[in-house]
Amino acid sequence: MSCEEWSRILSWYRNAVRIYSDAADALGVAEKPGFNAAWEVSEEARKVSARFRSALLEHEHRHGCQVAPEPVQEIRSGAFLSPATRRTATAR
Ligand SMILES: [Zn+2]
Repeated sequence: MSCEEWSRILSWYRNAVRIYSDAADALGVAEKPGFNAAWEVSEEARKVSARFRSALLEHEHRHGCQVAPEPVQEIRSGAFLSPATRRTATAR
């Protein structure tokens, strides 16, 4: 059984993590004068991601509606990752 509010918070969390990932990527190409600004954007995105993660866990705890959309096997194989991330994750 899925919970609409949980799904909504999950969607916000996923977007926030995506933005954080992009912001962290930008650190690698930021020139020295722009690095501090890029760092601040990345830090803000990290904090927003953490807030949505907390909101997700808090909702699960309060509402008792934890939902696991991916079977454990998929998580172990990294099948839920994008191809680029999977390459990075399995290259170690
Ligand atoms: Zn719920």
